Amino acid sequence: MSKYKKMRDPLRDPNVDPAVLKELKSIVGDKKVTVSKHILYAYSYDLTFVEGKMPDYAVLPQNTEQVSQIMKLANKFKIPVIPYTAGSNIGGLCIPEQGGIIMDLKQMNKIIELNDNLHYVVIEPGVSHAKLAAALYKYNLRFSWPVGPPSGSTSSCSLCHGIGGMSGRYGLNSEAITSMEVVLPTGEIVKIGSCAINDKAWHSVLPLPQMDGLFKGWLGTTGVVTKLGLAVHPIPPILKVFTASAATCEDMAYYMRALSNYEIADDVTAVSWWLTQVPIPSPYKPKPEGKPEWFSFAATTSWTEKEKEAREEIWQSVMDEEKKKGSSVVYVEYPDEALRARTQLPSRIVGSTKNYTKQGGGGIAWPGTFTPLDKWGVIYEEWKKIMIRRNFSPAVRITDYRGVHYGMLRAFFTFDKGDIDHTENARQGIVECLRWCLDNGGIPYKPGVDFAKEINKRCDQGYLSLLKRVKKMLDPNNIMNPGKMALEDED
Ligand SMILES: Cc1cc2nc3c(=O)[nH]c(=O)nc-3n(C[C@H](O)[C@H](O)[C@H](O)COP(=O)(O)OP(=O)(O)OC[C@H]3O[C@@H](n4cnc5c(N)ncnc54)[C@H](O)[C@@H]3O)c2cc1C
Repeated sequence: MSKYKKMRDPLRDPNVDPAVLKELKSIVGDKKVTVSKHILYAYSYDLTFVEGKMPDYAVLPQNTEQVSQIMKLANKFKIPVIPYTAGSNIGGLCIPEQGGIIMDLKQMNKIIELNDNLHYVVIEPGVSHAKLAAALYKYNLRFSWPVGPPSGSTSSCSLCHGIGGMSGRYGLNSEAITSMEVVLPTGEIVKIGSCAINDKAWHSVLPLPQMDGLFKGWLGTTGVVTKLGLAVHPIPPILKVFTASAATCEDMAYYMRALSNYEIADDVTAVSWWLTQVPIPSPYKPKPEGKPEWFSFAATTSWTEKEKEAREEIWQSVMDEEKKKGSSVVYVEYPDEALRARTQLPSRIVGSTKNYTKQGGGGIAWPGTFTPLDKWGVIYEEWKKIMIRRNFSPAVRITDYRGVHYGMLRAFFTFDKGDIDHTENARQGIVECLRWCLDNGGIPYKPGVDFAKEINKRCDQGYLSLLKRVKKMLDPNNIMNPGKMALEDED
């Protein structure tokens, strides 16, 4: 095991090897590598409850060749490498568990191709949502932008199975991936998808074996993606958002399922009353008497007025059906600003994390899960008890993905990062919620180490063993974001 494993003190001095520093400088140039403690410190923590840990070096590669050379160097010296773009993943995923090199890919930020004819782009990992959105809008094109910081990387979001404002229609952002270039942990550069057969063709990962799966959902532990092809879509001119409220999560979930049956919306999302509040009330504040507990919006886009009217007719018939069944779902007006924030993405309004967290004290984390729709109600009721018992507002979101069978169920915990007890209370509450959800069939996305341990405890032994074999095959020295999937704990 490398010497890096032991170093856990978040404020420790970097463990600098002059030979490594010299080689890093020769690869990227003096100005693109640092061992300055104050800069490394900024990479040692994130917004979550995950304990901060110091890296030893930070490098800013400028191209694929440099990434490859850094990986070869890291293998020679057996130093961990953590790919990083904006660090806004809300899972502690870029915190260097065992120290090592932060590979900050932010300056590899070229839009290599924007194909407005075939509707795909090829981007480098440092391209932010804001940059890509600005480029696409010129061609009236869009991507499924997340409700997160516009500075986040579109490729990292897609590689981590992120979701956005079109996931109701098109599914996860990882499903938009059409091709990729990857630097393997050992430094080889490989192409995946159509570009592997013809380097000018970036349109599809199919019908080849889906080797892109080796790099999606692996949290930067199997390779560094240096180019990514993504499908994009035209923006129809007519936006219509249908809004409704309900007294219970169960009623809201069944309304959303009924609506999603018709596949008329880009996004079908609902939030509990506490999440409609900006900032989220902290500590827990009871919902005012008489206010509905759930609010939803279904964003639809149409090319013609007639198409919009057809969508209105379908929505009305769903409302009528739910009413007949005795559901508490009714039409509700949604504040204009909130609707803009949800439909004009990427958004400075919701993407500004401080809007969520400023009453909590700067910390934010969540059990974010993909959960079968018929379990949303029962899990929410338990989450509510857990959160209120721990004095957190039950600020919960549910979103349908590509149809009716599952979607996102996630609870926002905001907490005071400066208060160890408050942070620990949040961590325990999140893990408690997660266990309940896992036992009901939910799976956490972008899972940090605490989550990975809970997943590994429950998973099929054959699956776990395959996971380890694949990781070992790709990364024989275990240098890529080591510890993140908690696979070592199982050895
Ligand atoms: C308030 C808030 C709301 C959010 N809402 C959403 C949402 O609605 N949907 C959503 O999807 N996300 C959401 N996010 C999470 C996040 O902002 C986005 O997913 C973002 O796009 C991630 O990009 P990043 O640059 O921050 O990635 P990082 O945090 O830098 O990296 C994420 C992971 O990818 C790995 N990685 C980075 N680059 C590479 C690479 N080139 N090759 C291999 N691995 C790599 C890293 O090691 C890490 O494990 C939200 C965040 C906040 C704070």
